Amino acid sequence: MNIFTTKFYLIGLTFFIPTILEAQKKILILLGSPGSGKGTLVEYCKQFNFTVLSTGNLCRQEIASKSHLGQQIEYYSMTTGLTPDNIIDEMVETWLDKQVESETIIFDGYPRTKDQAERLSNYLQTKMPDSQLDIFYLESTDDEELVQRILNRLVCENKQCQAVYNRRFTNSQSCKKCKGILIQRADDTEHIVRLRIAGFIQNNLEIIDYYNKLGIPVKRILVSNVTPEEVFERFINFIELETKSNKNSLEKNNEDL
Ligand SMILES: [Zn+2]
Repeated sequence: MNIFTTKFYLIGLTFFIPTILEAQKKILILLGSPGSGKGTLVEYCKQFNFTVLSTGNLCRQEIASKSHLGQQIEYYSMTTGLTPDNIIDEMVETWLDKQVESETIIFDGYPRTKDQAERLSNYLQTKMPDSQLDIFYLESTDDEELVQRILNRLVCENKQCQAVYNRRFTNSQSCKKCKGILIQRADDTEHIVRLRIAGFIQNNLEIIDYYNKLGIPVKRILVSNVTPEEVFERFINFIELETKSNKNSLEKNNEDL
């Protein structure tokens, strides 16, 4: 390579590198127990162009579409109330296959177990090798607060809506969005809620341990005794910091050239 082609080569590279980094897919994973405010955080994030993966919504869509997967999910939700992991995994992967255009995807409620986290890693390695994982744990230091949040939770009865309200903040009997009746979920009884939270915490700790071993640090956001706005602020700060440090290393890369 003579000196002129070297120069052109470098100029080409300088333009090329930022393009690769900008096109990199970002995957934000939210871990946290029921009542930790994952859903509310996702609501706040709607102002950005994030694509949201909500396994709950996906299940409802599959059931409504009467697909083979949907029929299986419906069967389990009518009988055991719990859809096996492999069915959820298949549903998530089919959905991810279609997310070619999405730049940032936020995962609400997935993965729920270490096995699912491992399967997701395999999927990303083969199908989205240049994606960047960013994991957040909405951590509670007060389990009692989580229990009370869920026990005070009211859900819109309309299956298409399912908006969530808190009894402490609303006196209304009907949904603001669709006028559906607000009910307490049948499985939101105190005993079941406590068991569910304990199970979630155990699973989350295993997932965090798994990612730590992979060398992907999990960012902890404390959710006890803080408002949803403060949780959102901390989350955004993390993302901005990351964007800034990516930008700095990118500028440094360019200087090096
Ligand atoms: Zn509603």
